[in-house]
Amino acid sequence: DFQYPHTFVLLGASGDLAKKKIYPTIWYLYRDNTLPRNTKFVGYARTKQTIAEVREKSKKYMKVRPGEEDKFEQFWEANTYHAGAYDKRVDYELLNQSISKSEKGPVANRIFYLAVPPTVFEEVTVNIRNACVSIKGYTRVIIEKPFGRDDVSSAKLSSHLSGLFKEEQIYRIDHYLGKEMVQNLMTLRFANQIFNPTWNRENIASILISFKEPFGTEGRGGYFDDFGIIRDVMQNHLLQILSLVAMEKPVTLNPNDIRDEKVKVLRHINPIELKDVLVGQYVGNPEGQGDEKLGYLDDPTVPKGSVTPTYALAALWINNARWQGVPFILRCGKALNERKAEVRVQFKEAPGDIFNGHAKRNELVIRVQPGEALYLKLMSKSPGMKFDLVETELDLTYSMRYRETDVPDAYERLILDVFTGTQMHFVRNDELKEAWRIFTPFLKNLEENHVIPEQYVYGSRGPIQADKKLADYNFKYSGSYKWQKPEVA
Ligand code: NAP
Ligand code: NAP
Repeated sequence: DFQYPHTFVLLGASGDLAKKKIYPTIWYLYRDNTLPRNTKFVGYARTKQTIAEVREKSKKYMKVRPGEEDKFEQFWEANTYHAGAYDKRVDYELLNQSISKSEKGPVANRIFYLAVPPTVFEEVTVNIRNACVSIKGYTRVIIEKPFGRDDVSSAKLSSHLSGLFKEEQIYRIDHYLGKEMVQNLMTLRFANQIFNPTWNRENIASILISFKEPFGTEGRGGYFDDFGIIRDVMQNHLLQILSLVAMEKPVTLNPNDIRDEKVKVLRHINPIELKDVLVGQYVGNPEGQGDEKLGYLDDPTVPKGSVTPTYALAALWINNARWQGVPFILRCGKALNERKAEVRVQFKEAPGDIFNGHAKRNELVIRVQPGEALYLKLMSKSPGMKFDLVETELDLTYSMRYRETDVPDAYERLILDVFTGTQMHFVRNDELKEAWRIFTPFLKNLEENHVIPEQYVYGSRGPIQADKKLADYNFKYSGSYKWQKPEVA
């Protein structure tokens, strides 16, 4: 397909996601010659503007290195912008005509990226289907979360989409699936015999999957308040990671074989119960700087008295032969002490202790961001004459081990996957359905019972009750592990 014309249409091209993420991403893909040679980019939105204005707005988010200036000009020459309404078929017909002009030859493919709010989603997809599908090649649509806000609205959206496109045409983005370490999970698990036989309830005590953000809503709480952290992060990103950590080995690496296994493991999870959940909301830190002084409820766009969680911890139980009784703890929050996303697999204590209780649990840490790393905490004899134990680690830090390699951004991989037709790292309809089955009842319960979140201070590790909860779910923290940053040779 590489030599045929391709058109990438970005709907909502005047928006935030477009300028910050999508234009930069398609530029990097273009720059690196990874896209089909004859690819044109079309921006579409209601705002009347020129491509020069689009370029100006996204300029500060796009890196252009010395020597790339000509290529950058070429990139913008391959771009056009088309103003139109989201609900008028005639506007899409004009868009179609303009796309067709650059589609000489027997085959021409089209990709539509929907960077528009969910409120216009249905009319946009109907109009694409009616007026813009490719008649001599593939048509693929990329959609962004939110995929509904509960089981009912998500099912409605899914049935709407399946009435217009085949599942093979729909690419639901969960950008966590584009991250290096998330993509590495399958290799780690299934290409290493040391993990293969130990990855189960006999050997693993608990698994903690965390997402932490060091900033609050910063005046954009209005959008956030309708969803909350559980819908924003836990139900999608963290659950996706969980399914890759917990699933059985797929029959092959075929995308549908993998997604079959992800769905299967989700089907073994009962809906989350309120007793397994802790929710929190941040308050300002009077001693902090700037935004840190402001709590969630101080954001003027947040409704007064809102009980929307900005922090959540939930334990999930997988009732299958591999995992029964092992807590999978999902934890996420805003306005915390640091930015990180990671998986911690805590192994059980070595049985038959001969070290007077000095041996600590092994822990495998898979750090997704920032700074990809994989480290396995283990016990060793302290070097020297003594026969003491020390906690140490086997450490694979990407920035040191792979110094010459740039880890590509999640969006770059995922958009390229859409061009090549690889759905492995996209969310299938039935996965989404299972995710909402697991999360909807307790989300409803939280809202109907107006559960008041625990307060935590901006910049802290979260509500103080959370550590107790972690201990209840068999995650042990001793505080004795000390890491020494290796010196760069
Ligand atoms: P946005 O800037 O609010 O909206 C994108 C464009 O849609 C706007 O430029 C506007 O274009 C049009 N629009 C806005 N409100 C509208 C309304 N009420 N009715 C009709 N059109 C409207 O949104 P975004 O932040 O780029 O996000 C786009 C999509 O990606 C959303 O579904 C969002 O949930 C999702 N998403 C965003 C991010 C992010 O980082 N921003 C991250 C993950 C997912 P015109 O007025 O010119 O038509
Ligand atoms: P750690 O200090 O033993 O922390 C383990 C986990 O327990 C973390 O998730 C931690 O923070 C949590 N925790 C902290 N205080 C707690 C408490 N009072 N009760 C319950 N849980 C608590 O070990 P580590 O985080 O694995 O390593 C320490 C530092 O060394 C980290 O900054 C790590 O990035 C660094 N390190 C880096 C590399 C590398 O770059 N390759 C390798 C090894 C270590 P949260 O609960 O806030 O998440």
